[in-house]
Amino acid sequence: MPKIKLLSPQEAQKIAAGQVIERPANAIKELLENAIDAGASRISIYIEDGGKQRMRIVDNGHGMDKTDAKSCLQKHATSKIRSIDELVSITSYGFRGEALASIAAVAKVAILTKEKESSEGTKALAHEGIISTEPIACPEGTDITVTDLFYNVPARAKFLKKRETETRHIIQIIQAMSLTYPSHHLQLFVNNKLFINCPPQKDVISRCAQLWGQATAQHMIALETEQNQKGITISGAISNHNWFRYDRRTIFFLVNNRWVTNPQLGRALLKGYNNVLPLGRYPTACISIQIDPEQIDINTHPKKEEVMFAHPRTVEQLIYKAVRTALEKGVSKQIKRDISFAQPEYNTSPLPSAPFSDFDATLYPSDHIAAQQPVSEKQESASPFTYKSQVTLPYAHEPTVQQKNINLYTPIEQAKESYKLIGQFHKTYLLIEQEEGLYLIDQHAAHERILYELFATRFDQLPTIQLMFPQLIPCSQDDLAIIEPHLNIFRNHGIAVEPFGKYQLIIKATPVHLKNSSFDDLIKQVIGWIQEYSNVDQEQFIKTVHDKLRAQMACKAAVKAGDTLSLEQMQELLEDLHTCPNRFSCPHGRPTGFLFALHDIEKRFRRR
Ligand code: ADP
Ligand code: MG
Repeated sequence: MPKIKLLSPQEAQKIAAGQVIERPANAIKELLENAIDAGASRISIYIEDGGKQRMRIVDNGHGMDKTDAKSCLQKHATSKIRSIDELVSITSYGFRGEALASIAAVAKVAILTKEKESSEGTKALAHEGIISTEPIACPEGTDITVTDLFYNVPARAKFLKKRETETRHIIQIIQAMSLTYPSHHLQLFVNNKLFINCPPQKDVISRCAQLWGQATAQHMIALETEQNQKGITISGAISNHNWFRYDRRTIFFLVNNRWVTNPQLGRALLKGYNNVLPLGRYPTACISIQIDPEQIDINTHPKKEEVMFAHPRTVEQLIYKAVRTALEKGVSKQIKRDISFAQPEYNTSPLPSAPFSDFDATLYPSDHIAAQQPVSEKQESASPFTYKSQVTLPYAHEPTVQQKNINLYTPIEQAKESYKLIGQFHKTYLLIEQEEGLYLIDQHAAHERILYELFATRFDQLPTIQLMFPQLIPCSQDDLAIIEPHLNIFRNHGIAVEPFGKYQLIIKATPVHLKNSSFDDLIKQVIGWIQEYSNVDQEQFIKTVHDKLRAQMACKAAVKAGDTLSLEQMQELLEDLHTCPNRFSCPHGRPTGFLFALHDIEKRFRRR
């Protein structure tokens, strides 16, 4: 019995459309590219419900006549190539003639279009494979409306994300296009509100100002446009060493004006930022690569999001060099100074054991971290290690239920006798003598752990303080759109934050521990996490982001390496650490302390 049946052309087209149109942003990209291919210099985009319900793109390009207005909706209908041989030298975005047909297979499409010389325009409607046209009066150019995406493919509609996520994808496409064509006028309206307005600009840095605000643009440096022997030109702009984000959303690569996402290009860029930005921080960058079309293949990815290079290494090397040169020129002195970015809290390597390179230093497993009796004289210190004077940490002296039950912790009173706090070493480590050997405690890691546990268990009771001078945090409009629905994450932790105008957030109150901290960085990090975890379920999302926020708050509020601590402060730290759950590591996973076993020390000195 034969099992094979031919699919109806309509079903086949719906399936094929999935290759090109997975989400509203793909349709927007195709429609934008068509507008640019048609020579448009002004393009307005309107979206509703993240593009799921309605997308409309209006351009001032050359338009179509009545015949083309109909045939453009059919598959393999293109005005851009006649045969595959032309692909090697293609300069238009389109060539497959499948975008409009694909969109029409999975949504309702209406086109209004008029050529410049024509006295009347055409209205073309496509619905369920039927295309109708009629004459209509309309402006020159093309106006395409796509309604009810995937109305007839429920399996795919199910996979669409919430409105904010789809909108964010669309914004990225529009940002990429705006950066590619600074001299064009692009506008995005979200639910009829003007969201992005990019009138013509003279260069890419001014474009960055329109997209992300002056705060970003003032850190941008232009790449020196250089052509190598193979005719490859790298140009664009990158952010300097003083600027970073916690996500890659403002990194764009353009290959012959086509936005691509090849991961190797990103790696080459970040290699250029080695020693300038620590791991996990990303620059803002728009890097444009002009290359002989014969040196690339753009027909390898169904959505043309990646290109294949004939000589990928050459391109990567050029990007690396261009980035390095730009960063080094004019800022070389600062780069050296700013290498101190590498603060210990980001260094995840084990604590150095040199000069005891073969020393078997064990992570201290003891239950007995304690301090000697308080010193007689109270010492004042300018260090930020002042939490005891601001607030008592009740749990530091009251074991939690968990501690009581599992009884893992030796009571501090018992331990005090046999341990001695020697003092502070390198303004970073506390030295503690005890029977088993010498403990080094990292003051920052230890304090981070203490505060993290406080923030995690008492977050709803944290003592807060109204700021006399509220903090204003500049924020681009799309970052605001990302963070606004999630501001409760902060409010749940005593940080009173709200939008302030179109481009700022205002912080009016904070937990006392953070009263002197700047929140710029924390906000940026949360924006990064929201995007990074947008695909996990709600419960997991809340847990992860809260956890990360607490760790970062603890990091900010904790004493730093380099802070001088009084003996009394060191002792308080040790006492608090002693009663702290998970005290052997900081919230980022670094050890809080290290034991140099007496036995091993004696061996080194050949006493044994
Ligand atoms: P491709 O871009 O690969 O040719 P599309 O399906 O995207 O395929 O478009 C089909 C054809 O419709 C294009 O080749 C072009 O001639 C015409 N077209 C599409 N959009 C526009 C537009 N905005 N202005 C003028 N012509 C357009
Ligand atoms: Mg096209």
